[in-house]
Amino acid sequence: ISLANQIAAGEVIERPASVVKELVENCLDAGASQVTIDIEQGGRRRIRVRDNGNGIPRDELALALSRHATSKISSLSDLEAIQSLGFRGEALASISSVSRLTLTSKTPEQEQAWQAWVEGRDMQAELAPASHPQGTTVDVQDLFFNTPARRKFLRTDKTEFSHIDEVLRRIALARFDVRFQLLHNDKIVRQYAAVQTPEQYIKRVGQVCGGSFTDQVISIDEQSGPVRLWGWVAPAHACRHQADVQYFYVNGRMMRDRLLGHAVRQAYGDSLGEDRAPTFVLYLELPAQDVDVNVHPAKHEVRFHQARQIHDFVLASVRQAFTAQQP
Ligand code: ADP
Ligand code: MG
Repeated sequence: ISLANQIAAGEVIERPASVVKELVENCLDAGASQVTIDIEQGGRRRIRVRDNGNGIPRDELALALSRHATSKISSLSDLEAIQSLGFRGEALASISSVSRLTLTSKTPEQEQAWQAWVEGRDMQAELAPASHPQGTTVDVQDLFFNTPARRKFLRTDKTEFSHIDEVLRRIALARFDVRFQLLHNDKIVRQYAAVQTPEQYIKRVGQVCGGSFTDQVISIDEQSGPVRLWGWVAPAHACRHQADVQYFYVNGRMMRDRLLGHAVRQAYGDSLGEDRAPTFVLYLELPAQDVDVNVHPAKHEVRFHQARQIHDFVLASVRQAFTAQQP
């Protein structure tokens, strides 16, 4: 079992940033409104994620750490209408097979918080009472301590941290209503306050993408039947030289999809010189049954049942925004 775990872990858990992504997605699935991420030494020494969500009941702590244990789907039909970010029940098991993991949690019903821990191959979780407010903390220490080959592939602390920072950017742009805090070696590096109204979203977008983006940005909000595209694009002259602000969300999940990327690129037409890249934060919303986002969770691919129409709608919407902007 431990070998199988470690092979599977290799698929999901590549580096500290993959751990952060999985842990923060769990916080969001648990309904948290505040998430704090503590990183030490680029994540190789420690990744600790704390939330104020629903918590995990005492008698489910050990289960949460075991493979294919998910509380999020109970039947095959649930799988079709997945709302939660996680559903495979693999992340905690994978992470705990390559680290020293402690899980501490308190549900609103419990008087007392409880803690479970496992270390590497030793998959037997132990339980003890603990002190913790409502919610969950997952503390991952010494990532890859038992997989030297994988540890060798880690880059400098600075590089690993920048991957973590990017993971948080993507999530922060998906959940304006959640407060996020990111620390590196005990110093606060990012603080994204929760914003509730669409008018305030731009504040967070500026924090995440930089003021140079939001200063000249064009807003989009177009609807066609049940399909809606909203968000922000930079006009061609204000586009960035690097392709680093290209965030496209489909039903709340960040995607890197060729079809969507192509539609946005085409909307710019010839106005974009070779030295600039399309710069955008866009949200596409459409009925869940018209899209398959689970093609490959790690690859951010998406399959639209009516790809052509979606492409043309995105193209037309972005073009329309550019035209409306012209004096
Ligand atoms: P998945 O998210 O696919 O269900 P995970 O391995 O990520 O699988 O988590 C396993 C289970 O542990 C989840 O289904 C959930 O019940 C519980 N869990 C993990 N993290 C949290 C958290 N931060 N808050 C509440 N429950 C959690
Ligand atoms: Mg999960």
